[in-house]
Order: sequence, then C-alpha cells, then structure tokens
Amino acid sequence: MNVNQSAPPVPPFGQPQPVYPGYHQSSYGGQPGSTAPPTPYGAYNGPVPGYQQTPPPGVSRAPPSSGVPPTSTAQVPSGQGAYGQFGQGDIQNGPSSTVQMQRLPGSQPFGSAPLAPVVSQPTVLQPYGPPPTSAQVTAQMAGMQISGAVAPAPPPSGLGYGPPTSLASASGSFPNSGLYGSYPQGQAPPPSQAQGSSGAQPPQRSAPQQASSFTPPASGVPRMPSMTGPVLPGQSFVGPPVSQPNHVSSPPPQVLHPGTQMAGLPGQLPPMHSSQQPGYQLQQNGSFGPVRGPQPNYGSPYPGAPSFGSQPGPPQPLPPKRLDPDAIPSPQLNELPPQQKTRHRIDPDAIPSPIQVIEDDRNNRGSEPFVTGVRGQVPPLVTTNFLVKDQGNASPRYIRCTSYNIPCTSDMAKQAQVPLAAVIKPLARLPPEEASPYVVDHGESGPLRCNRCKAYMCPFMQFIEGGRRFQCCFCSCINDVPPQYFQHLDHTGKRVDAYDRPELSLGSYEFLATVDYCKNNKFPSPPAFIFMIDVSYNAIRSGLVRLLCEELKSLLDFLPREGGAEESAIRVGFVTYNKVLHFYNVKSSLAQPQMMVVSDVADMFVPLLDGFLVNVNESRAVITSLLDQIPEMFADTRETETVFAPVIQAGMEALKAAECAGKLFLFHTSLPIAEAPGKLKNRDDRKLINTDKEKTLFQPQTGAYQTLAKECVAQGCCVDLFLFPNQYVDVATLSVVPQLTGGSVYKYACFQVENDQERFMSDLRQDVQKVVGFDAVMRVRTSTGIRAIDFFGAFYMSNTTDVELAGLDGDKTVTVEFKHDDRLNEESGALLQCALLYTSCAGQRRLRIHNLALNCCTQLADLYRNCETDTLINYMAKFAYRGVLNSPVKTVRDTLITQCAQILACYRKNCASPSSAGQLILPECMKLLPVYLNCVLKSDVLQPGAEVTTDDRAYVRQLVTSMDVAETNVFFYPRLLPLTKSPIESTTEPPAVRASEERLSNGDIYLLENGLNLFIWVGASVQQGVVQSLFGVSSFSQITSGLSILPVLDNPLSKKVRGLIDSLRAQRSRYMKLIVVKQEDKLEMLFKHFLVEDKSLNGGASYVDFLCHMHKEIRQLLS
Ligand SMILES: [Zn+2]
Repeated sequence: MNVNQSAPPVPPFGQPQPVYPGYHQSSYGGQPGSTAPPTPYGAYNGPVPGYQQTPPPGVSRAPPSSGVPPTSTAQVPSGQGAYGQFGQGDIQNGPSSTVQMQRLPGSQPFGSAPLAPVVSQPTVLQPYGPPPTSAQVTAQMAGMQISGAVAPAPPPSGLGYGPPTSLASASGSFPNSGLYGSYPQGQAPPPSQAQGSSGAQPPQRSAPQQASSFTPPASGVPRMPSMTGPVLPGQSFVGPPVSQPNHVSSPPPQVLHPGTQMAGLPGQLPPMHSSQQPGYQLQQNGSFGPVRGPQPNYGSPYPGAPSFGSQPGPPQPLPPKRLDPDAIPSPQLNELPPQQKTRHRIDPDAIPSPIQVIEDDRNNRGSEPFVTGVRGQVPPLVTTNFLVKDQGNASPRYIRCTSYNIPCTSDMAKQAQVPLAAVIKPLARLPPEEASPYVVDHGESGPLRCNRCKAYMCPFMQFIEGGRRFQCCFCSCINDVPPQYFQHLDHTGKRVDAYDRPELSLGSYEFLATVDYCKNNKFPSPPAFIFMIDVSYNAIRSGLVRLLCEELKSLLDFLPREGGAEESAIRVGFVTYNKVLHFYNVKSSLAQPQMMVVSDVADMFVPLLDGFLVNVNESRAVITSLLDQIPEMFADTRETETVFAPVIQAGMEALKAAECAGKLFLFHTSLPIAEAPGKLKNRDDRKLINTDKEKTLFQPQTGAYQTLAKECVAQGCCVDLFLFPNQYVDVATLSVVPQLTGGSVYKYACFQVENDQERFMSDLRQDVQKVVGFDAVMRVRTSTGIRAIDFFGAFYMSNTTDVELAGLDGDKTVTVEFKHDDRLNEESGALLQCALLYTSCAGQRRLRIHNLALNCCTQLADLYRNCETDTLINYMAKFAYRGVLNSPVKTVRDTLITQCAQILACYRKNCASPSSAGQLILPECMKLLPVYLNCVLKSDVLQPGAEVTTDDRAYVRQLVTSMDVAETNVFFYPRLLPLTKSPIESTTEPPAVRASEERLSNGDIYLLENGLNLFIWVGASVQQGVVQSLFGVSSFSQITSGLSILPVLDNPLSKKVRGLIDSLRAQRSRYMKLIVVKQEDKLEMLFKHFLVEDKSLNGGASYVDFLCHMHKEIRQLLS
C-alpha cells in the first residue's frame, strides 16, 4: 500500500496542532462507548515541503542496514555493530527465566559484558539550560528526620478482631470484588489453615518469615512479630495499649509528651509536612536543619567516620522489658495508667505522610506546565495534574525514571543501590490538551539514523562541518548528512530548520516506516480482531454468552480507527468453543452464517479462509444474525469441559492465513481439562505458601503455552483473556500467552450477570476500543557508559535487546533497568532513546521515538535529590513480582528490605549531616520509600492473607508487571477520601486522608480506591439525613452491606458522590466495582485489607513498625 494515502493533511509543524476531536481519551473523562470514533494518532505527512522530501534520483539512501528482515519476526533494522554482541535465543522475561534476586554489593558485577570499542564521547551538543540552581537544590535537600527508637506499640487495629481464622471462615460470603472473589466451594479449606500458612496464627507465622531481620539483636524475646526499634537510654519501654475500639472518632491523644526525650530530640516532633519547601530547613532544637552538602570523599568507606564510628551501635543497652505486642494484654498492662500506655508511641502525624507529599506537590507544581527542555528535570508526581510542553525530551507520560541524575560511575551506583530504571509507556494516551506525536515522513529514504548504532535522528545529534555531517549523540560516530536532508547551521551550530522538524526539536515524534521495516518486505495488511467465546455449560448458565453476544452487536461499531477514517480498517472473525471449536463463515453474500466444527483439537487448522475475517459494515446482517443465534444454539449444552491452547492456536493460524497481525479476545470460564494440547490439571495447593515451593504456584504448569506464545509473537497475534472462573483455573498458566503477547487479562470470579455485568461491559468496551500498536518491536538505546540490561512487562524477548510485542496498547508499560559499562560524563549527561516499530490499527507501519536526556553526577547527594520514589516503587514491585517465580517469597521480601536499607544508609552516611544514630534521616525525595515499600511487602503476592486465592495472586502479579507509575502508586497505597467532611457545595475532590483506621471517624463516610477496587465505608454514627441522602434508607441498619450500586437520588450529596465515583472510574484503565461496607460489618475486614498503614491481619507490619524496623536495619548497616 502507499503509505501516503491514508493519512490526511495536517497543519505545518510549528503551529499549534489541533486536538483531534475524535481522539478517544477514555482515561480522561471520555465515556467508553461514546459516539466519538477513536482516531488514534495525528498524522504528519501532509503537504509540508520540509517533510516529504523524496530523494533525488541517484542519491544514495540511508542503507536498510540489516538487509532483508527475517521472516519470523519483524525487527528494527540494525547493523548491530556495537550493540549486537549478545547471545541470541535466551528468553529474558519468560516466566522461567532465571532471575538474580541477590542485589547485595558485589553480587552482580557491573560492566562485565564486553563492549565493542566505542570512541569515547568528546563533547556532545548541550542544547539545554543549566542544571538546577543551588536554591532549588537547597530546597530539595532539606532532609527530614524523625526520632528513631520507639516502643513497639501496635496500632489500634491490631487487636480489633478475633483470630484470623474467623476471616477465613467468613470469606466465603464476601461479595465478588474481582480481586477477592471467593468461590462457593473449596475456599480456604481447613487443612490449609492447619498449616498455619495463611495467617491462622499470625505470631508464629510471621516470626519465621521475619526473624532474621526483624528481631532486634538485643531482644531476648523469642517471638517478635512486629518490628521493634531498639530502646534508647532514657526511654522507658511500655507495652502495647490495651485493645482499642475499632474506630475512634478522633485521633489518639498526642503521644509524644512535651517532656519526653526521644533520641536526642527534645520536645515535640515538628510536623513532617513541608508545604513550602524553601522554608522547611528550619532548625528546631538543633535537630532539624539543612542536610549537609555532599561530601567529596563519598567513595571511601564511612567518610563521616567520627560521627558514626563513635555511636553506641545498634544493640542499644537495656531492653528493659519487652512485651509481645500480639499477646493478649497482660494484667500488668491493663493496670498501667492510661497515660503511660501511649506515652512512647510514635505520633503517626510525625512520620512522613503520603497525603502531605502528594498535596505539596500538587500545590507547588500543579499550576505550571512541565516544560521538558531542561535536562535531568524531575517531573511533578503522577498524582499531580499538570500539562506537559515538549521541548526536546519525552513527556513523563511516556518515560519516568527512578532518578534523573545518574551516578557517573558504577562504583557510586553500587554504593547507593538506587536502581537505575525507566518506566516507559510508548503509546501512552494523552490528555486532550496535549498533542499526539507528529508523524514525520522522510519518503522512500526512511528515517535518518546513525550508521553505527542505528539511533534515530533526534534533537541531541550534533551537526558539524557546516551541516554536512552529524555526530551521533549515542555512539559518537560521525555520519554524512544525506543531500536531501542538508541544511545550513546558524551561528550557534544549530540547523536553521531545527524548529521546523519534530525530530530535531521534540522529545517524542513518529516516523513513517518504509518497506524495509516490514515483515517480508511487504507493507502490512490491516489487523484483525477475533472473538473466541467459550460456550460450555458454565458460560451459558451464568448468562455470559447471551450478554456478550448482545453487547458485541453494538461494540463492533467502535473498533479503533485511524485519523479521521470513516470506518475501522480492522476485520473481525468469530469462533465459539467448548471441547471442540466452531468457526463461522460470515461472508456478506451469505443469507445466514455457516458453522464449521473442528474437533481435531490436537492438530488445529482453520477450516475456512474466505468469509472468516470480514469487514463489519459489509457483513453486518450476517454478523448480527450469528450473534443472535449463538446463545440459542448452545442454550441446552451439557458440555462442561473446555480446551484452551487449541483456541489460541486457531486464532493465530487464522491471522497467519490472512497474513495480518491482530488480537484475539478470549472469553473463558474453566480449567481446560479436556484432552488437548495445553490440557491442565488442578494443582492449586495453599500448603505451598511460605515454603520453597511457593514459587511453583506462580509458574506455568506446562511449557506448552510459552511455545504457543512464541508463535503468536512471530505472527503479531496479541491475546486478551477474559476469565470467568467459578473455581481455580490456573491463572498462572492461562495468562502466559496474554503476558508474552502484550495482552491483558481480566478476571471475574463467580460471574453473575446481575452483579458483574457493568464491570465486564465497561472493561470490554474499553479494551476493544483501545488503540493498539501491533507486531511491535521496541529497542532502547543509550549513550556510551550505560546500557539497558533488564526489562519488565508484558512482552517477549528472543534476544537481550529487542522487546517484542505482538500488541501494545496505551496502558502498558515496559520497565527498563540500566547498568553502567563505563564512566559517565557530567557534562554530556546520559541519553535514552526508545524506538518502537509497530503497525497502526489501520495497517500503517510506524516508528515512535522517545528521547530523554538525564544528568550525571559525581556527588551522591545529587542522585538522592533527583530521585522519584513512585517510579522506584514501580520498579521494585516489578522486580520482586518477577522474583517470586524463581525464589522463595521470603527471600524476595528480604532482598527488598535490604536494598531499601542500603539506599537509605548510603544517604545517611554520605549526604546527611552528622547526628545522633537515634535519628532516622531520610532523603526528602525518598521519605515515602519506607511506607510505600511496606505496602509492596504486604501485598497479596508477597504476603497473602487467607482470603487471597492462588489465582488472585497470579492475576495481580501479572497485572502489576505492566502497570505504569500512577497505577502502582494508587494500587499499593490506596486513596481514601472522606465524602462527608467537606461542604457539599465544594466542587473539588475532597482531600485524601491516610490509609489507616485511625483516620476514620464513625460519623463520616469514606471512599477508598486502588485502581481495581472501590469501597464506600459508612461509619456507624453517620447522621440519618446523610444516610437518607446517599442510600435512600432511613437508618444505618437499613443500608445493605455489600451494595454495589448507589441509588440515583435527586439531592446534592447523592449527585456529588456518584459524580466522584464516575470520575474516579474514568481515570482508571479498568472498571472498579463498588462495594459498600458498613462499620463493624463482617465485610469490613475486606475493606481493612486496604488500610495499608495499619498492621494487617496476615502479619503485614504497620507503617510505624516498619519504619522502626527500617531504622534498625540502617543502623546495622552503618555500624
Ligand atoms: Zn550512533
């Protein structure tokens, strides 16, 4: 096809690009299923002279470097000179790959891989402004300190409930929330409880898990389930407060009494919030102050020796009397005067608050657009609403980094232990105010690239010799500028047309790819969607099949379409299956659809080519007829067994026969036990939890699906899986193909039309309408000195550099970790270029390029003040969630804790001012690292409660793998919004409160969301009027527990709350089903699982306890 035909003209570059009205922005308030046709990308191949230069005859083109692309997979053509030296064929991200869990210094040598000789970079164009001013630096450097040693008072929730066994038995009646959909039978069988593996006896259970690291050395107490900071001299130790009511209407009394000496911090702790950062470095009692600047001799061990060497060391004397906080309150304890009981608890308001950090960032950075022109700028937090202006670096919506200032040497990096990673969302959806990347068409010559490293032309390339040549900013190679691309330079050495060309002035843009970038040297056909519907007994009985067929009739009008195209180019096909497969001929010329049955599932073939994949509009009558007939045809089915792998195989073969890429939408209900390839057995075994074999629960039970996935990737066949299980279906195995093909998995446990229709329909609509890039290959290039070494996400890798994605949608991220292989240069910084080659939904082959320049530092302090904790947590969670495939979960958790302690200890040692060891000093940018890390540690994958099924864990594990930073942020630390505290008139979202039971007032109503779940919690003493307005009943007792829809009532409160729920749902890529929870109701336990600052029922530490533990770990490292 002629690539210039399909895209409409657009205004010249340099003028404001109109927002394409049809661009489907479902995560920015766009209503899924609305009438606006999705028009994915703004094209930029219009009649602009500068962009459509056809090379004059006889002019040599940029060579198609790699010659003919291999037939199996599309590849970015590349000479591979300096970068192709890695072994082929080892699967990097498949579940069975080996992962090094140990991250301790020295365990992973840096830079050991040989690199072909590369000219060291003399100077690289530095088009950007100066580094941040020292004023900014000072402001950022204000460290926070909190008093360290604290008695291990448990949070009030610790004793709020009976033994966790009651949770297990109660769980059978939880409503289906998606994550914790429990099955009618087989849930939490008594034998598994007897194993003590899932919280039946929290103290015993957590002790072995945490003993190595959590028990203070000086403690003579055998059981110490929650972490305890060493007790300092001058502190008297008190036990836990007696059982407190579950809900307190006001925060507990100030626990740090004015006269209490806490670790050399006289008086009250200053509040942690720093709403105006510049004023934050106040000296208070000599304990607070600007953190000392970087120390020049950071490299030597313990440079600040005097201040650390002289300290008493962690095993502080006199642990006078330790009480097990989980023990039943002892008589002595009850005899203590109430005041003393709480005396030494850490004031929760004095430890870093996620809410405050988020609020501060919103206030400080939400009003100004984020302009990407300055190298190494840390963007606003993901929780802040801001606009982005692309001035040469990719928007943080496309790339976020753990740090925007990379240590110059691998030694420094090893010392700091801060992972260097980028979370990349190449096809991220943008808010309507921001323009989609321009599409640049260089005609037949294709995009201009460096001859050696194959990097694409970008704003950092330096033109020399009057513009006749350019030096590559990645490998320093000097390249000739092709005559058709020549342009003069101005007096600063910049091309005079720099601002007219996206690839010379923007961080993100697209190139139209030439035929050299296409499989088999042939431009691709438009992709196809195949809907494959389980019609076994369960699917029919639950009403799923009827619902789905009805919905598809209208949904087919909303297939993704390109630009202003009138109709989607995507063709569709239909298959139903149970133990056998039924293909349908829906050719437009037929009066009725024809069914063809394939029962030889062992050797799958597609029985028809003509009439299987059709244009929706042409075949509408036949398709409608088919969708009407399917529920009737199978209405009386008795077939309960299903196959699974043959279904995928069939879809993939159909795409292969049609010579196109595409997506399979699989709607599946049960463990595929029918005799066929990929047959599975029920191997769920909760007894494996907390054993060395726990990892097998996350591994696929057969390698067949990996083999199948590999074939799918080669064909550009992406698989989206919708699961409707009534019992264990082995998500770990069934999700292998979706995971490796860039697809999505949705799970609706115990699906019932009346309860789950809304969620399923919403997810399906959003999923079908998603703009997808097909048959994609992503490559991340870096400037000399660092190198991408590891990748996380939903994709397949057949070598160590190319991320292959059968499909990639706008919600999926690929996380890339970098390591040094040489010294970096402060002056030139470090560059990343992510290039994604893909087929658009209209069948156009394109390259999307994102560039990002980072600073490099020789002072550790610069690293610590340019970190982004949210991104760090995203990386660490993905690292850990992959780690559970290969290592015991305990090892994974310990690795995370150790790494976090090392990061913070390195800061303390090298960047913080000398101070008492009793003080915990956290870098300003990382002050939330402990609280967030604790949330990861106690997440269902790493520390499951009794109500979490094996399938839940596998499901969450694969979901998190491709989450972006905003999603992991709210997933691990949910948002808790008071609904009745602010005036009804106020139109802004209510300010969030911390995710802790202490923050709940029984006179109020709260909303909690984490991107997957949505709760409304109703306090027992809420005013009757409020109950009436929101629920339409006259009293608290009449509210139905587990309600999932709020009644539509005509009053301001009802409208406001329903509006808020709608807007929260619109922000998330998956529909969040609502569950109304009443205080003191048994469902409340489900809700409390998400109050992540509290100690969890399954033994997860409270924030305060974890912070104390982290402090102890840090002190051990420093001593
Ligand atoms: Zn190069």
